Amino acid sequence: MAVPMKFLSEELDAMKQAGLYGTIRTLESPQGAWVHIDGKKYLNLCSNNYLGLCNDPRLVAKVKEYADRYGVGPGAVRTIAGTMSPHIELEKKLAAFKGAEAAIVVQSGFCANLTVIPTLAGGADDLIFSDSLNHASIIDACRLSKAKVIRYEHSDMADLKKKLEENSDGKGKKLLITDGVFSMDGDVAKLPEIVELCEKHGVIVAVDDAHGEGVLGRGGRGIVDHFSLHGRVDVEIGTMSKAFGVMGGMAAGSAVLVDYLRQKARPNLFSSALTIPDVAANLASVEILQESETLVKKLWSNGDFLKKELGALGFDTAHSETPITPVIIGEASDAKAFSAKLFERGVFATAIVFPTVPRGTARIRAMVSAAHSEDDLRFAVEQFAAVGREMGVIS
Ligand code: PMP
Repeated sequence: MAVPMKFLSEELDAMKQAGLYGTIRTLESPQGAWVHIDGKKYLNLCSNNYLGLCNDPRLVAKVKEYADRYGVGPGAVRTIAGTMSPHIELEKKLAAFKGAEAAIVVQSGFCANLTVIPTLAGGADDLIFSDSLNHASIIDACRLSKAKVIRYEHSDMADLKKKLEENSDGKGKKLLITDGVFSMDGDVAKLPEIVELCEKHGVIVAVDDAHGEGVLGRGGRGIVDHFSLHGRVDVEIGTMSKAFGVMGGMAAGSAVLVDYLRQKARPNLFSSALTIPDVAANLASVEILQESETLVKKLWSNGDFLKKELGALGFDTAHSETPITPVIIGEASDAKAFSAKLFERGVFATAIVFPTVPRGTARIRAMVSAAHSEDDLRFAVEQFAAVGREMGVIS
């Protein structure tokens, strides 16, 4: 007889009572500036579709072309069933785009961290230096490693320096991992200082540029390009689920590093490759980014507009340096009520609460996209103003 897993309903009920149970909406339309939910239209302010590519006809056309030529599934893991030429084509394109020698494509950004972190620093003698606000996939990837994880205070270079100095001997490898853009606040890692400190202490530098890909740097080439640190950051980890508008993860670096990951990283050895439609759509995204900076520029001007307007109304938009626009509300229940009231007014903007952000800093994270028009954003600002006044968040 099946085990009565009472803890399931008990814990779910506790989450509901604490206001931490997430409502997951069903979209009846593609991701875009506006989406359809329960037959109604809502302004979409919560996707990572930074450049509006999720439903771009050029991506859809490439998917059809490649699906006709190569089918859909990869058959098995690449080391057993062989790698398909579209994956190699994408890896070459991504490496050229990033200005790296080589790149490996994996199934997701989450998998990209699992690909890099335990593979490069997995031994019990190894050390991993990790920013205290790093993404959950980095934390989980660190947990899969036998290395000792040393957390330094978020973007605190004095604390990092101290921890590097305290751990300057030891026989194992040392790796530093940081988010490039911290997704809940929109601030950018102090990569030049990090690189300098790590060079001094012989530490491998890996940056997860999930929210910098297609956003920072020339034409969206990412954080390494943004700071002109080519050749000084050992591994750039990325995802194609955000600005690229598709799905998939990558790691870019030297040819020998990528060769090592291909031979040793468990997501490459034990999980099948990305599907052909994903690969094809990603190829189209890179081509679009290589051709023009228009979408990246539009994204930034939209982000600047929204931050300026919400800030002028008196909202606390924290210290974002990117188009990510957090609107701090405070308590989880208030942020959820704020989100529900926005929804009633036609704005889909999910509340982000503990454990994704620290308690007391629950927020609406407004995600603009190049797909939004100025009218769309004006509509958003009007609704934020109305709800903000009604709830006493602004006066
Ligand atoms: N790293 C960071 C910093 C992220 O923000 C995310 C997505 N939230 C991921 C990795 C995971 O990416 P994916 O959705 O492609 O698995």
